[in-house]
Amino acid sequence: MTLLASSLIMETPLPIEFAELAGKVSYVQRKTAGEYSSSCPFCGGQPHDGELPDRFIMWISSNATGKPLGYCRKCGRKWWSGSNDVKKMTDAERAEFERIRVMAERERESEKQAKLEQFKKSRVWEQYAKNLNEMAMNLYAQRGITEYFVYHWGLGFCYNRKYQIGSEILYSPSLTIPIIRPITKEVVNVKHRLLNPNMPYKYSLEMSGLPVELFVADTDKELVGSVLLVEGEFKAMTTYITLDNPNINVVGMPSSTPDLDSLAILANCEPVYIILDPDAFFSRNGTNPLKRLTDYFKGRCRVVRLPGKVDDLIMKHGLTKDKLVNVIKSAKST
Ligand SMILES: [Zn+2]
Repeated sequence: MTLLASSLIMETPLPIEFAELAGKVSYVQRKTAGEYSSSCPFCGGQPHDGELPDRFIMWISSNATGKPLGYCRKCGRKWWSGSNDVKKMTDAERAEFERIRVMAERERESEKQAKLEQFKKSRVWEQYAKNLNEMAMNLYAQRGITEYFVYHWGLGFCYNRKYQIGSEILYSPSLTIPIIRPITKEVVNVKHRLLNPNMPYKYSLEMSGLPVELFVADTDKELVGSVLLVEGEFKAMTTYITLDNPNINVVGMPSSTPDLDSLAILANCEPVYIILDPDAFFSRNGTNPLKRLTDYFKGRCRVVRLPGKVDDLIMKHGLTKDKLVNVIKSAKST
């Protein structure tokens, strides 16, 4: 594996059997030899949290007809060659589809496991840590991350991160963040913060296609008790360093709308203090990021409302340890 081989956005050409859908689906990915996925020709789908939408499943040879068949896991509509109209599946078709889907899911699981093992063997994060230079150290310092913590978290620098948007291949230097599991200290991915990003893509994951995992500031201890949940790995670091409290762990989500499965590692945490950027208090495209999280944690969480982004407040507007402790203490349960 080359260091720069994987990328956030990897698209596969649309299989010829689905040529009629050209221009109607995007973000095509190959799942297995006979199965592809993409956005839905009916209800769409956009990448989020560094993962492509895989709601529309395309079978090259469906078990029911032996012919190409597409099915959307979100809106339930299906497509086959020559179908003009949208038809719902019968119960029998759906059961058969589910059976094959579960089999494919298992195959995908083992592919993911193999990918993760390959990544772990590469120890690519060690190379990035060796690349650290004065410029990178200064960029970390600007985020309030001291040299001690740069080494502590194994942060690094990548000279020329390859990433892809659609069919366009781009390069940017990046700051690198190993994602490390608590206790076992397994490194499960490296997140790249692109320094010259082609917006809105500021981040790229070393290994795409793996389950999203959260950045945990203190990986020496089990994730139990009080935890502060913030939006972004760097914000988690800056906040953890400022808070300087061994009794409160800080965890960074990749965005304000993380994959809810990734929050399972917080199952034994209470209270979960949630600090989001102010824009996450409002709905976007029908989703209210704050409500989504408070619904997930139910009575276990408290919302810390700040007038700006927590790292900006710390770095530029004098949010000190004491003030941060005070706002956390005054956080309301929801
Ligand atoms: Zn759909």
